[in-house]
Formats: sequence, structure tokens, C-alpha cells
Amino acid sequence: GTDATRTRAPLAPAELRVDVAHAARMYDYYLGGKDHFPADRDAAEAALLALPTLRIAARQNRSFLLRATRHLTEVGIRQFLDIGTGIPTSPNLHEVAQTIAPDSRIVYTDNDPLVLAHARALLTSVPQGATAYLDADLHDPDRILTSPELHDTLDLTRPVALSLIAILHFLPDDHDPYSIVRRLMDALPSGSYLALTHITVDHDRESVDAAAEVYRQRGIPVQARSIDDIERFVDGLDLLDPGIRLVHHWRPDDGVPPGLTDAQVSVYGAVARKL
Ligand code: SAH
Repeated sequence: GTDATRTRAPLAPAELRVDVAHAARMYDYYLGGKDHFPADRDAAEAALLALPTLRIAARQNRSFLLRATRHLTEVGIRQFLDIGTGIPTSPNLHEVAQTIAPDSRIVYTDNDPLVLAHARALLTSVPQGATAYLDADLHDPDRILTSPELHDTLDLTRPVALSLIAILHFLPDDHDPYSIVRRLMDALPSGSYLALTHITVDHDRESVDAAAEVYRQRGIPVQARSIDDIERFVDGLDLLDPGIRLVHHWRPDDGVPPGLTDAQVSVYGAVARKL
């Protein structure tokens, strides 16, 4: 097994920009992690005031990531490109995949300096497989696709699951998210998959809009989308059953508590296959 990362010198504190809220650290706060600073906690508390069920949504989003990864591994996928990985959270994607198939190979990508600082926790592949970390931005898919981290780890002539979990809502329409996803899927062979989740305005527009505004006020662009807008991301792909569903309705298991409402979750999930 190989663990490849080309990390830079240790981060200077200034690079972490602890004075401004970061989406990765706010999400870590919702999940009950410990990697956040006062600016992140202030912003996260304001978002929770607007959308008090955000913690439930974050947990259900994470639970979808685990179920979708398990499913993809069970149908034979052994290569994953996870963009917008977030601060390491147990279990991580590779731990789920490698429990089923130890030879699974995963490239993790994020643009947050704190995620990079914690990358070592993602580079714990079993010897039969591999994990790598790439410090890159989803806005530059060509850099991701041509990176040595990706090419040393994944074979792009064989199917890959692209996972875009809770990241696409950080790319408003004027950032060209649809072209970016298309560009990434075009680079993957037939039999590859796209797994995505996305926050939605469909079930509690007022609260979700108010939470999105908290992010925007702090300089983090967010666009919560409707199911029709989210459907465009899987255009031309073959949607797996049950289609685009709120994450707690997507192949639920014991990790999904009974009694959740659609408004509380407000995150859609989908897995689709490239024909
Ligand atoms: N996928 C994880 C984490 C979601 S939080 C999960 O669902 O549990 C969203 C993550 O996307 C954060 O870590 C943030 O840093 C990252 N992110 C946001 N915009 C990004 C971009 N343009 N390029 C790369 N990563 C980005």
C-alpha cells in the first residue's frame, strides 16, 4: 500500500485565518468535533439559530455518505475521488470502503488549510489499498484531474466513484458548478458513479434561506437548490433507486432514527451511474 501526499511546510497560524468563519470548521462544530475557533462557533451558532435542525441535517448527511460508500463498494467500485472531504470524522470514507474491500483506493481533496493540516488522519490506508490527499479547489477540476496525487493513486481507465458530498451548495450558479461536474464525469470511464448531497430550500425555504444568509454575510457563498436544479447535476447519468431523495429516505438503515421530518433534514442525496 502507498500513502501519498505532497504536503507543504507546517502551516503558519495566519494561513488558517482563525479570525474568519470557515465552512469546514462550522460543519465540524455541528457534528460535535473539536476543530473550530471562536469565529467558526459564532457563525455556526447564528446558523443554528436560523435553522435549529442543522445538526440533524449534518449527521444525516454524514450517514448518507457512509451508506452510499458502502453500496458503491458492494457493487464493485474500488476507486474513489472525494472532493470536499472535510475535517477527518470517524469513520472516514476509506475506512468504510476498506472494511468491505481492503484494496479500495481513495483520493481525498479539499481546499481548506485545516483539512490539509489533518490530512495524516486520512492517510491510514490498509496495506492492500491506498489513500492520498490533494490540496485543491473544486473550481479547478483540471488541476485535480492532472495532479500526480490522483494519477499515482487511481487508474482512470477503470471506474471511479466521484463523491461530492455537501460541497456543491458552496458553488452558486455563477461559479459554473454544472460545467465543473460535467468536466469531472467526462474524465471518468463508463461504469463510474457520481454520489452527491445538496442542501435544499424545498421543505423549509425560510429557515434554509436564513442559514444560507449567515454564511454569505461572512463571505462564504452558498446556494441552496430545488430538486429540479439538483437534477441537472445528474443529467445524462443513470440514477440508482430510489432516485434523488432526502438523505434519510435514501436506502435508510439503523443509522436513520425514526420520526425525522423532511424539513429537519433538508438535504437531498443521490447516486448515479455513468452509462
Ligand atoms: N464531505 C464531507 C464534508 C462536508 S463540509 C461530509 O459531507 O461529511 C464541506 C467541505 O467542502 C469543507 O471541508 C470545505 O472546505 C470543502 N469545500 C468547500 N468549497 C470547496 C472548494 N471550492 N474546493 C474544495 N473544497 C471545498
